[in-house]
Amino acid sequence: MTPSQAPAPGAAPDPPDAPWPVRATDVRQWAYCPRVVYYTTVVPVPRAVTFKMEYGTEAQAAVEALEVRRKLRRYRLDAGERHFRVRLESGRLGLSGEIDLLITTPEEAVPVEFKHTERPVGKNHRAQVAVYALLAEEHTGLPARRGFICRLPSGRLQQVACDADERRQALEIAAQVRAMITQESRPHPTGVRARCTDCEFRRYCADVE
Ligand code: SF4
Repeated sequence: MTPSQAPAPGAAPDPPDAPWPVRATDVRQWAYCPRVVYYTTVVPVPRAVTFKMEYGTEAQAAVEALEVRRKLRRYRLDAGERHFRVRLESGRLGLSGEIDLLITTPEEAVPVEFKHTERPVGKNHRAQVAVYALLAEEHTGLPARRGFICRLPSGRLQQVACDADERRQALEIAAQVRAMITQESRPHPTGVRARCTDCEFRRYCADVE
């Protein structure tokens, strides 16, 4: 367990079999390449701050300001409340995360993830949104059957389902992340070797072609 994910000193102990929370971002990274999670949690390696990371931090406030002026109809909603950067954690689910935007209506909760990319939405992003849906549902008591990926800077939206399959996959990935961090064992590389070409961790993966 990494220091950032271990229970806080002095905190009330969890029940013996309560799963400690796995972050939504780690679920996303695992679905992309399990080793990325290893390099960012078990053996954190030096990372360069990329333009994308800096841009992402600076752009967040601007995105939020723009978002409040946008119509909720683009989310297929007539009305609702926007909540930005919602941090949630569940001991029952063994999950945690910070939702960029959570829209609530009397009928549903809709998590929205901002992505600084125009690439197609992948399995990894779907798993992250499924984690947010599970957390939002527990926190609000409202059903969260769908979410959105908002691509930046275009603002293009893609709706993603948060159905039983997506939730099950997200929970399975979280269990794999938890097991890997607990055992401190380096996981297998991604099966999509094209991802290795521009990977910032490439020099630590001598076994990939
Ligand atoms: S180089 Fe490839 S296997 Fe290694 S962390 Fe990056 S994507 Fe994963």
